[in-house]
Amino acid sequence: MKTISLLGATGSIGTQTLDILRTHPTEFNLAAMSVGKNIELARKMVGEFKPELVSVQDYQDCVTLKAEYPNTKFTFGIEGLIEVAVYDKSNILVNAVLGSVGLNPTLQAIENGKIIAIANKETLVTAGHLIMEAAKRNNVPLLPVDSEHSAIFQALQGEKERNIERLIITASGGSFRERTRQELENVTVKEALNHPNWSMGAKITIDSATMMNKGLEVIEAHWLFDMPYEKIDVLLHKESIIHSMIEFHDSSIIAQLGTPDMRVPIQYALTYPERLPLPSSKRLNLANVGKLHFQEMDVERFRCLRFAYEAGKIGGTLPTVLNAANEVAVASFLEGKIRFLQIEDLIEKALNSHQSIDYPSLDTIQEVDIETRQFVHSLL
Ligand code: NDP
Ligand code: MG
Repeated sequence: MKTISLLGATGSIGTQTLDILRTHPTEFNLAAMSVGKNIELARKMVGEFKPELVSVQDYQDCVTLKAEYPNTKFTFGIEGLIEVAVYDKSNILVNAVLGSVGLNPTLQAIENGKIIAIANKETLVTAGHLIMEAAKRNNVPLLPVDSEHSAIFQALQGEKERNIERLIITASGGSFRERTRQELENVTVKEALNHPNWSMGAKITIDSATMMNKGLEVIEAHWLFDMPYEKIDVLLHKESIIHSMIEFHDSSIIAQLGTPDMRVPIQYALTYPERLPLPSSKRLNLANVGKLHFQEMDVERFRCLRFAYEAGKIGGTLPTVLNAANEVAVASFLEGKIRFLQIEDLIEKALNSHQSIDYPSLDTIQEVDIETRQFVHSLL
């Protein structure tokens, strides 16, 4: 029996993780979880999974729930996220919280020897060097949940990283893949949230439309697989059937395929190196699919992808700025405060106004994260 701490239980990845736990009740047990503000859903989860420890975002919700469930321990805020992440009975942390708020809990869980199943890519983008160093020092596995990275991780089994020629990360193209830049001027939030292949949380769906998601994934791949940026390519593949590939020195390419269903990579991270049946997942029928399409990526059409490569290559605190600016810009777009193309303008301004600091400590990263958020807010 594997015992799990889950950050972000009420989100898209969080609820699908719980779906896997529901499918395999004798394999997994939920000991601790965190939610944000969705208290209604949290109540249902507490009733069904009976975790011992629950963290909520706000103090008042914590007080309310404590009165309702006297046998469950409740906590709140960033301290609460950390408490869940390091909960002593858990051996795996599934980090499916949104944004760089997941950084400190991940680091603490690594220091406490937890296996990390990481969906929270903003953490790796912001502080990949700290996470990877801590994981190595504590001999803790970091198992990717993001479908592209899971695909690469699966293709790497039995292979050596030193034999990799390049990683090929596939991109669906997001909600606006058929539109020109000009046609993006006046797109609405509703249109942007309409992803053709994947059903995901709002922020990552917007990131897919701007192509920032792929940019964040390039940086994520750089850290997870210790790969220079020159050896990470992005390929448009509109069907989202090939989830990513590795090309080896001898020109062999190994890919992982499947219908777009996040439960597959989530479950693989939870069962690795074993596999379990996933009866509810739709089987891939290639004869029905017929054709797969591939197209080169245009970094002028998708400027966020270029920003991410540039920020990743320079490194230091620049990826922190990229991520924090993006988090604020996307939230502002979702609130209807800015237009779609202003997302990239704000990120560009934040990047241009920052002098990168090399090898930043956790404190420096957190300061730059806050400063960047303030800077972008001041532009709104
Ligand atoms: P959602 O927005 O659906 O869920 C986010 C979760 O985090 C919710 O439980 C939310 O709580 C909680 N949360 C948000 N902000 C805070 C905060 N400040 N403090 C505490 N809890 C908070 O996101 P997704 O599930 O889509 O994505 C989660 C992570 O996984 C992201 O990093 C994303 O990039 C990554 N990912 C997602 C994929 C997907 O298919 N969705 C695919 C690959 C990666 P509540 O709702 O209760 O307020
Ligand atoms: Mg992905």
